[in-house]
Amino acid sequence: MLVAGNWKMYKGPAETAEFCLGLREQDLDGVDVVVCPPFVSLAVAVQVLAGTEIAVGAQNVHWENEGAFTGEISPPMLRELGVYGAIVGHSERRQYFGETDETVGRRTRAALAAGLFVIACVGETEAERERGETEDVLRRQLAHLEADDNLVIAYEPVWAIGTGKTATPEIADAAHAFVKSIIDVPVLYGGSVKPENAAELMTHGGHVDGALVGGASLELESFTAICRAAIPS
Ligand code: PEP
Repeated sequence: MLVAGNWKMYKGPAETAEFCLGLREQDLDGVDVVVCPPFVSLAVAVQVLAGTEIAVGAQNVHWENEGAFTGEISPPMLRELGVYGAIVGHSERRQYFGETDETVGRRTRAALAAGLFVIACVGETEAERERGETEDVLRRQLAHLEADDNLVIAYEPVWAIGTGKTATPEIADAAHAFVKSIIDVPVLYGGSVKPENAAELMTHGGHVDGALVGGASLELESFTAICRAAIPS
């Protein structure tokens, strides 16, 4: 099981150092843990977590190695910093920053080619689910991605992100099974995962390989509780 924390635009370097110092004291044997701070906090996270099994990921990455792309960060730059991987195609990037299935594919391929681990996000909106289009949306989003040992998909129904509306374990498992029928890689669930629902979401049905956690990854206590829920008993 893999549990990744997406910190979104929270925690500058000082708060990141404090969180990571606390995290390195935890016994989290039996689960793979990744934290994904904002770009400016990556270096300190790498530094504080050095020598632990906890990996540091970015929240985005560009497809070119360098060039006139103001505001973007390239795969080799992340590698140079000691960053292990990146989230790509989060629904907030799709919604607010014009990310498309094609650019998600380009970012993913470039990051994998540079030796980074990628968590590529897919998921339908509430309207798409209500119209019965969930599988069509997932198929379209996955069409630009190919299986790779360093690729993980995060199924994040948009209606469940930051809303407190978690998918039922049945909905999550069925969507994961569908994703896996298209691309044979591990699939994380994301969308209002909390300590209270994490164990059930991650164990029901057998197609869920971990969690991508937003809000509940910002507090050490709730994040580590979710990580522990992923450890097989
Ligand atoms: C996310 O940002 O990837 C996410 C799943 O957020 P939350 O856990 O807050 O719903």
